[in-house]
Amino acid sequence: MPSYDDNNIFAKILRGEIPCDKVYEDDYVLAFNDISPQAPVHILVIPKGKYVSIVDFGAKASAEELAGFYAAVSKIAQEKGIDADGFRSIANTGSNGGQEVPHYHLHLLGGRRIGPMVSK
Ligand code: AMP
Repeated sequence: MPSYDDNNIFAKILRGEIPCDKVYEDDYVLAFNDISPQAPVHILVIPKGKYVSIVDFGAKASAEELAGFYAAVSKIAQEKGIDADGFRSIANTGSNGGQEVPHYHLHLLGGRRIGPMVSK
């Protein structure tokens, strides 16, 4: 497992060093609009703790952090109104997964029908 890089861009957003277009925040997560949206709704949900990936998060986060994270995902999906028609959640992981930012984040993509699950 790669070690956590405190200089990744989402760490800087969490520290308030870089702005973000915030849509939700609580004790466990920060959620903000993706800077390069791939759908009418494209939100990134990130844990406040220092976790590189979904693997790192699942292995090291406390039960409270895990529950808090996914409770927030549900709340955001409902508040943004994407739960009714559906949406896609994606956690790109590592190089094969195309992960660019090494702080765990879940993409929530909705507002239109999202295309094929995996591009060839
Ligand atoms: P991933 O490839 O899963 O690591 O996705 C990283 C995502 O972060 C991409 O969709 C980027 O558009 C997005 N992103 C990068 N920098 C920022 C930023 N400063 N604010 C919001 N989204 C960002």
